[in-house]
Amino acid sequence: MALEELDCIVAGAGVIGLAVARALAIAGREVVILETADAIGTEISSRNSEVIHAGIYYPAGSLMARLCVAGRNALYAYCRARGIPHRKCGKLIVATSAEELEMLPAITARAATNGVSDLRRISAAEAMALEPALATTGALISPSTGILDSHAYMLSLLGDAQKAGAALVLNSPVLGGRIEEGGIVLDVGGADPASIRCKLFVNAAGLQAPALARKLQGVPTDLIPKEYYAKGNYFSLSGKSPFSRLIYPVPVKGGLGVHLTLDMGGQARFGPDVEWVSRLDYEVDPRRAESFYASVRRYYPDLKNGTPQQAYSGIRPKIVPPEIGSQDFMIQGPETHGIPGFINLFGIESPGLTSSLALADHVRHIAVA
Ligand SMILES: Cc1cc2nc3c(=O)[nH]c(=O)nc-3n(C[C@H](O)[C@H](O)[C@H](O)COP(=O)(O)OP(=O)(O)OC[C@H]3O[C@@H](n4cnc5c(N)ncnc54)[C@H](O)[C@@H]3O)c2cc1C
Repeated sequence: MALEELDCIVAGAGVIGLAVARALAIAGREVVILETADAIGTEISSRNSEVIHAGIYYPAGSLMARLCVAGRNALYAYCRARGIPHRKCGKLIVATSAEELEMLPAITARAATNGVSDLRRISAAEAMALEPALATTGALISPSTGILDSHAYMLSLLGDAQKAGAALVLNSPVLGGRIEEGGIVLDVGGADPASIRCKLFVNAAGLQAPALARKLQGVPTDLIPKEYYAKGNYFSLSGKSPFSRLIYPVPVKGGLGVHLTLDMGGQARFGPDVEWVSRLDYEVDPRRAESFYASVRRYYPDLKNGTPQQAYSGIRPKIVPPEIGSQDFMIQGPETHGIPGFINLFGIESPGLTSSLALADHVRHIAVA
């Protein structure tokens, strides 16, 4: 088999791989995106909440905090410029007890540290006037939270990348490879298997990113995180949504609580919850809805028995075990592993969609450094 030579290869055509390929192609690099599936965005990128996050909760200075705020601004501008369906619908973080009310100032302070300056305290009466179905003792309103059509967004990223000369090759998994002097050799499967040497390889394989890194000979294995999967199940409400904004309870230890989001079609859904799993299985167990009722009724007392219907699930690409739970994005370039032209993107869970344009810019900087 002849060894082909290319400039940049990006493994994975999810929102992150597409955004990275776009940024590199626009910067003048020759880019090929290799994707296992027969379409773009079939894994994490099509199984999420499609929320444009403001950047409220992430630890100060973390990559999540920085890239979410920068990415959110870039994403709104991009959606406006390209006519991508999106809505800055806003979000309410609602307290339902005196104890939760006391937690709101800490959330506002964290948000301010992250550069989210428009989070505002509103009274229970104001919140319930905005959202008559709501029960609350006081709330925060986040005007810069919104929703978007993530598929239209991914198609637009792909279009930009292709216009700048990038190529997408579907049904072409990167099976493994090796680090060599002067390049990275990748073994690519599919109908027409090939070995390709590239100057830059970006591993944007989402849930499979750690496994793929392990298949590349010469990569220090002690730097590759172990993967864990945290499934998030969604339950949708049929009929017209009782809310016009996203409704989040005050965060509970280890998670955001059972919140309500909306899609661009106006349908409301609860979730995602957190179910740690050992394999990639997207089936939603309808019995999990039982655990939603008590927490949702604290802010939505009219929720009727049997109304939330099982919808879909997504799996978070965790790189920390359940007892730790929260993590930062892990972006590994040559400064971490010492291999020129090699970038691993590990643990790109929420707010990865929101952060995608800023994250891609960050990767482009590493690539040219
Ligand atoms: C339940 C849930 C809710 C979320 N909600 C939000 C939200 O509301 N807002 C937000 O900002 N973020 C959200 N996120 C996070 C966001 O969805 C992700 O950060 C983002 O989609 C990750 O994209 P990705 O491209 O890294 O992964 P993916 O979309 O999974 O793409 C990886 C691609 O790599 C391909 N691949 C795998 N192995 C190989 C290989 N060996 N060779 C070639 N290709 C390969 C896969 O087929 C896949 O297409 C959510 C995530 C989850 C799980």
